[in-house]
Amino acid sequence: MSTIFSKIIAREIPADIVYEDDLVLAFRDIAPQAPVHILIVPKKEIATVNDVSVEDETALGRLLTVAAKIAGDEGIAESGYRLIVNCNEDGGQEVFHLHMHILGGRRLGPMLAKR
Ligand code: AMP
Repeated sequence: MSTIFSKIIAREIPADIVYEDDLVLAFRDIAPQAPVHILIVPKKEIATVNDVSVEDETALGRLLTVAAKIAGDEGIAESGYRLIVNCNEDGGQEVFHLHMHILGGRRLGPMLAKR
C-alpha cells in the first residue's frame, strides 16, 4: 500500500529533498526532532524491516552510505549522530514505507526514554 513517502518520491507532494540517486531519496523530516533530521527512503515500496528480502540488500546498504554522505554534508559527522529505523507499533513506526532517520546537531541523550 502506497504511503506519503511514495508520493514524495513521485514528486506528487513537495519535500525538502537533499539527496537522490537510482535507489534512494533523502529529504528533511517535516517535524524535526533535532537540528538535522533527515529521512532516507528506498525508492522501492517496502513496508517495514519485516518485509525486506535479499534482493533489497543493495538499496538497504545504500541507506548507510548515503547517511554517511549526508552527515558529512550537514557537518555532523565528527560531532556525531544517530540512525534510527522504527518497525511496527512497539518501534513507533508511523509511515509504513521503510525509512532511516538521521538525527544530529545536538546532544541526543540516552538511546531510549526511561520507562
Ligand atoms: P516513523 O515514526 O519512523 O514512521 O517516522 C515517520 C516520520 O515521517 C516522522 O518523523 C514524521 O515527522 C515524518 N513525516 C511524515 N510526513 C512527512 C512529510 N510529508 N515530509 C517529511 N517528513 C514526514
